[in-house]
Amino acid sequence: MTEIIDILEKEEPVLTLTEHCDIICENCPNNINGICIDNKKVDLIDKRCLEKYDMQFGDTIRWSELKKLAFERVISPKQLATVCLDCQWRTLCFI
Ligand code: SF4
Repeated sequence: MTEIIDILEKEEPVLTLTEHCDIICENCPNNINGICIDNKKVDLIDKRCLEKYDMQFGDTIRWSELKKLAFERVISPKQLATVCLDCQWRTLCFI
């Protein structure tokens, strides 16, 4: 994950918001033939994010713009607990 974050920060790519496993999931043990074993939970979180960002699967956005949206519409207004309700890792994001 650190490697992915480095690439995002250094290369500032345009990202496509995908519905299923993406490049970040490439080496995850939960990725079974391109489908996450936690897909139901991940899908719910993804859809809550998209709603906050006024975006849809398939839309593209530059990394810095996505970070800005996440900060302005989820993190700053203290919506993280609601949007990421079912995520087992969410306590890490409150640190
Ligand atoms: S848990 Fe699922 S969504 Fe998260 S990185 Fe692994 S395969 Fe991707």
